[in-house]
Amino acid sequence: MPVSLNNYNAIKTSLDAKEVTLVAVSKTKPVEDILELYQLGQRDFGENYVQELVDKQAQLPKDIRWHFIGHLQSNKVKYIAPFVHLIHGVDSASLLKEINKQAQKNGRIIDVLLQVFIASEETKYGLDENELVSIVEGFGKAEFGNVRVVGLMGMASFTENLTIVRTEFKKLKQLFDSLPSTGNVNIKPQFLSMGMSADYPIAIEEGSNMVRIGSLLFGTRN
Ligand SMILES: *Cc1c(COP(=O)(O)O)cnc(C)c1O
Repeated sequence: MPVSLNNYNAIKTSLDAKEVTLVAVSKTKPVEDILELYQLGQRDFGENYVQELVDKQAQLPKDIRWHFIGHLQSNKVKYIAPFVHLIHGVDSASLLKEINKQAQKNGRIIDVLLQVFIASEETKYGLDENELVSIVEGFGKAEFGNVRVVGLMGMASFTENLTIVRTEFKKLKQLFDSLPSTGNVNIKPQFLSMGMSADYPIAIEEGSNMVRIGSLLFGTRN
């Protein structure tokens, strides 16, 4: 399926008006497709797989802001640490620690979002409410000078029942608004990453300011 420039222009215009960041999710799609949106001005792209991201980053313009939105294994942080713009799916203290270490090695500060489990399905990654609080409080005390927690990310249940989806997004927004204040300068909640092709309008109504959209822009994936 070809890239939909019409969808891109319409979505981008409506998101800009609401000051919502569009992350164009390009996983499994070729670099040519990414360049089509790049040429229209898109700079934020999201990828799920480390090797694929590393390969694409090497081939594409260096001013692209790469978002890692997949499940990141600690032993792979080093491959994306030199260039990644934002890591969305952080769900453990040990991963935070490794990101800090690799950021330090690269002389940079890496921004991350903590992933919260909001769906009713058992398969999704993420922290529950208690784990979120304990990780934020623990981080507040830790000397992690090279990683900055800038918000939360979550995925709603994969269901056509939009009432369930809305309830889950509402829950994540509440957690975002009530993040414990630790006084640590490296915790600065600004971004709430929620909403995909099927549910982004609801996510925005519920307070999202960063959406991750793939298939509406790039076509369905195999
Ligand atoms: C693939 C993916 C998306 C994009 O999904 P679409 O339904 O194609 O918009 C968004 N977020 C995450 C975490 C993903 O893995």
